[in-house]
Amino acid sequence: MTRPTSPRPYNFSAGPAAMPDAVLERAASEMLDWQGSGMGVMEMSHRGKEFGAICTQAEADLRFLLAVPENFHILFMQGGGLGENAIVPMNLSRGTRADFIITGSWSTKSHKEAQRYCTANIAATNAADQHTRLPDPASWRLSDDASYVHVCSNETIHGVEFQELPDLAALGSKAPLVIDFSSHVASRPVDWNRVGLAFGGAQKNLGPAGLTIVIVRDDLLGHALDICPSAFNYKTVADNGSMYNTPPTWGIYIAGLTFQWLRAQTEGELTGMAAMEARNIAKARLLYDFIDASPFYVNKVDPSCRSRMNVPFFLNDESRNDAFLSGAREAGLLQLKGHKSVGGMRASIYNAMPLAGVQALVSYMREFERSHA
Ligand SMILES: *Cc1c(COP(=O)(O)O)cnc(C)c1O
Repeated sequence: MTRPTSPRPYNFSAGPAAMPDAVLERAASEMLDWQGSGMGVMEMSHRGKEFGAICTQAEADLRFLLAVPENFHILFMQGGGLGENAIVPMNLSRGTRADFIITGSWSTKSHKEAQRYCTANIAATNAADQHTRLPDPASWRLSDDASYVHVCSNETIHGVEFQELPDLAALGSKAPLVIDFSSHVASRPVDWNRVGLAFGGAQKNLGPAGLTIVIVRDDLLGHALDICPSAFNYKTVADNGSMYNTPPTWGIYIAGLTFQWLRAQTEGELTGMAAMEARNIAKARLLYDFIDASPFYVNKVDPSCRSRMNVPFFLNDESRNDAFLSGAREAGLLQLKGHKSVGGMRASIYNAMPLAGVQALVSYMREFERSHA
């Protein structure tokens, strides 16, 4: 595979986000003719043997990467994270009660949407802390009869991440845990003993927008409300191998290439997910350590729950934001502007961001500080 002769800029977009060069190059080389089939992947029947092989491989690679147990189904769906905010309660709530842990914008949206389908209870919230720390699980007011408990395991906008998933059984709850892992899927292993269902859009860390990954324990299938569209009924999707209706074939193909790329990563002795996690830890540490040591920049999130993927930060003098961003663009550092609801800057450093990209960002930040302090 040839590499681009001039390196592309480092892209810190929160999503849709940068993809590994190797994945894009491979897709480009197969665009007009996938492996001698005479067809591009976008042009194939989803029921043909070629796409069948692509989809089966993608599922197997994801199952291997995330060590998904056999009693969980991997579903390739559409509708995105926001779609799942309705699809999950339609499938799991039985119209009764569900608990929500509010930790930022995305869990807030999930709670609001679920109210249309069930009694959505806020069991804990960090709103009083401006979403800068996680509420201690010991303080959660979980319902006795919740059909599920929802958490957003990485809040993309506020930069707050669960470093360990809550153990609901130890908190006295029998409900399955639902995690929205849209923005840190495949950046670290998942403890499936603690999870009933995980969902995420592909466009942050896996591939193009349009593919939604759902990984669901089999006992949670088959309880959908009558109003649930068939194409969004997890049991129907599972029974049809994600081919009840046309799945997002291009997204599955690109995510599949990303899974292969992830499996091939190494860091010292480590391979695959372990290598990727080690690299993500190193990237995040480099950036947070620099910000914490500088009087010029600040990150407001409690160190115990800082996201490895999304790093919101502020310049102490916000009148310099525009100069910071235009200088960054000139230095080949793209899409650093923070989300409008939080302001400041945000560096999203997903799997496709190499350590060299974070080093380049830190060098730029140091130089900007030196010339403006
Ligand atoms: C981006 C994001 C979403 C929204 O996904 P859509 O595909 O736009 O519906 C939901 N949850 C989290 C945590 C996200 O980062």
